[in-house]
Amino acid sequence: MAVTQQTSAEETIALDNQYVMHTYGKLPVVFVRGEGCFVYDTEGKEYLDLVAGIAVNGLGHCPPKVVDAICKQAATLMHTSNLYYTTLQPQLAKFLVDISGMNKAFFCNSGAEANEAAMKLARKATKIAGHPEKTEIITALQSFHGRTLAAITATGQPKYQKSFAPLPPDYKYVPYNDIEALKATAGEKTCAIMMEPVQGESGVHTATTEFLQTARELCDKFGAALIFDEVQTGLGRTGKLFGYQHSGVIPDIMTLAKTLGGGFPIGACLAKGHYADVFEPGDHASTFGGTPLASAAAIAAVTEIIEGGWVENADEVGKYFRERLSELPGIKEVRGLGLMIAAEFTDPIAKQIASRALDKGLIVNPIGENILRFVPPLIITRELIDRAISIIRECI
Ligand code: PLP
Repeated sequence: MAVTQQTSAEETIALDNQYVMHTYGKLPVVFVRGEGCFVYDTEGKEYLDLVAGIAVNGLGHCPPKVVDAICKQAATLMHTSNLYYTTLQPQLAKFLVDISGMNKAFFCNSGAEANEAAMKLARKATKIAGHPEKTEIITALQSFHGRTLAAITATGQPKYQKSFAPLPPDYKYVPYNDIEALKATAGEKTCAIMMEPVQGESGVHTATTEFLQTARELCDKFGAALIFDEVQTGLGRTGKLFGYQHSGVIPDIMTLAKTLGGGFPIGACLAKGHYADVFEPGDHASTFGGTPLASAAAIAAVTEIIEGGWVENADEVGKYFRERLSELPGIKEVRGLGLMIAAEFTDPIAKQIASRALDKGLIVNPIGENILRFVPPLIITRELIDRAISIIRECI
């Protein structure tokens, strides 16, 4: 069988079950095409996608400007080693620096890798400052920072860590938004505090301004780095370009991925002040980090997110979506910012709703028993939200 042959849904699922490691609990649907807020399966059935690759397809599926940039760059220069200069990587770095308030960028391929870079950077910064004893990294319980060994260690959820001990040492955890716990945990040994401005994976919980301000003050007091994991919140998702802008608390290091490439894999670790100059040749690297192809995709995607007004759209349509969700029966709480939204139900019906919705052509993401998470494309309209709400209502 030719490897590129089109297979039926049944054949695809059988092949996947036999040859792909079972790291995901997959739903029985096979997608073959996407356009805007919709994806289509092998039978041509249309699905309104409110998951968007888990906050990756910020501009929807196959955004024309990103597709165009990728096609042109693919025919020009896809990859060359980071041992040589290429034209687009520094342009992307300057672009991200200009919009984020950071000073320099390191490029990689995913959120976990961006967080690895951030943690290595913070650890090296304390060594350079003459404080090798400052090694502790504080993160939040219920956080999510990715799946590498250090990233699952930073992730304050034992379920992701339990099979992989021993974990890297010197991580400490505090309940999210618990200022007193943060104060009690930070100290002379603190190397970094790493937080998501809004926790996504565990059900969309927003950090209070006071909590982030306290983290900032403690980092300043103890000479530690404040790292914001903006892998999910960054680039318009929360109705502002960056999640940190809701609080006004500025981190020393910020990580990006997901929507950065408009669907193409790329991650970035941005750093400010003296943190921007910590890494030297040999300290950190990524073969594929910031290739011409990835950089072209990211420049096109971020330009369109800003110039298309999609950050403002996320804010406006996000408010509308939250209002409409609150009207649904059985809702306990609707929370979130912009188009990063969770609807918590009183009863454990989230999985059932998600599976019925899939049958009716709507993709939503259940978290646990009671929560539905929505991270739709930033380009979604009120009309499509209305369509989603009526399907969810039917499914309840
Ligand atoms: N950080 C946050 C806040 C995330 O939401 C995720 C993924 O969901 C990651 C890191 C990991 O990103 P990746 O899967 O690209 O490694």
